[in-house]
Amino acid sequence: MFNGPILAAVDARRQDLIGLTQDLIRIPTLNPPGRMYREVCDYLAARLMAQGFAVEMIRAFGAPGDSDSYPRWNMVARLERGRGDCVHFNSHHDVVEVGHGWTRDPFGGELDGDRIYGRGACDMKGGLAASVIAAEAFVAARPDWQGAIEISATADEESGGYGGVAYLAERGYFSPDRVQHVIIPEPLHKDRICLGHRGVWWAEIETHGRIAHGSMPFLGDSAIRHMGAVLAEIEERLYPLLATKHTAMPVVPEGARQSTLNINSIHGGEAEPEAGYTGLPAPCVADRCRIIIDRRFLIEEDLTTVKAEMVTVLERVKAERPGFSYEIRDLFEVHPVMADRKAPVVRSTAEAIERVLARTADYVVSPGTYDQKHIDRIGRLKNCIAYGPGLLHLAHQPDEWVGVQDMIDSAKVMALVLDDLL
Ligand SMILES: [Zn+2]
Repeated sequence: MFNGPILAAVDARRQDLIGLTQDLIRIPTLNPPGRMYREVCDYLAARLMAQGFAVEMIRAFGAPGDSDSYPRWNMVARLERGRGDCVHFNSHHDVVEVGHGWTRDPFGGELDGDRIYGRGACDMKGGLAASVIAAEAFVAARPDWQGAIEISATADEESGGYGGVAYLAERGYFSPDRVQHVIIPEPLHKDRICLGHRGVWWAEIETHGRIAHGSMPFLGDSAIRHMGAVLAEIEERLYPLLATKHTAMPVVPEGARQSTLNINSIHGGEAEPEAGYTGLPAPCVADRCRIIIDRRFLIEEDLTTVKAEMVTVLERVKAERPGFSYEIRDLFEVHPVMADRKAPVVRSTAEAIERVLARTADYVVSPGTYDQKHIDRIGRLKNCIAYGPGLLHLAHQPDEWVGVQDMIDSAKVMALVLDDLL
């Protein structure tokens, strides 16, 4: 079908797209602690209701972080016309802390040339704005469409998504009888389709010892020395093993196309003194030492094996060190997900990228997770991708920005996907 009217309808909304992005940036939805969630949802609800969308406001009562001071609000807007599939655009409305090093007002939404600056500009208020403009332009240009369009703005993606997409997925908002296609406009760039992400296992490992006077350490047993042996074993055996595990997933950056392990933190012995305390530490042998590990795994691996590898490390140390004992506590786990390249939303988006940008789409997989995990696991919906404007490496950085032309181009792609699927 002739795409001219849809593309023109997006171009005609350029100023509107800029204004919408600026307005969203000017609502500082900082997470933590979860500020202004209701305000951003109200703003979007008013706009989409004026376009004929039916809007639901859903507070994730009891979700982590939810309180009367910081309620976890989500907005789901739906426009239906006749029978047909539903295409859902899901964006998180929360942004991370500002941090240091800014030369622009992080909540000013300043437009300079082609760029709009601000915290959340690329991650992901620019993508949210592009999806709203895409839906509005499509509906205006194709009055005879059939099916349903949903736009959601959800909480807490930056802190796991439990007060956002997970909460909605548990209540059926992403069930396959309600929603058939999902696009998450995260900043993966306008010519790339993100099919999914690697898996995650976070755990705390603790070694045990026995406290004694630091002048007679032989009367105690140092949990820190035991942990040192664990770390040595991880260096000598586990890291080389992980380096041999490669994936067929097209993860970017390429360094993440293997299993990875980060040791997020280590703590042993006496607690850190409070700020301002000027006294000396006391001489004690450490009776506890803990590390937090962040293991990212591949679609070719399974979580049971991933965990067993770490147990093997600890058991090997245990066999060599008298008195060694340990505990592992699971903190967080997410299985890898990857949409099929033949899935309808993938194929449709790839075709739209070719038509708008005159180049073939790249397929990528994210090294870290995002809300697709909940749509896949809780919602059981596989026909889901991340696609949106902005450069991923700008996310969470000072002077974060999103390009206006990139937003226009990706809004065109999203509008053509609507045209294809509805
Ligand atoms: Zn994001």
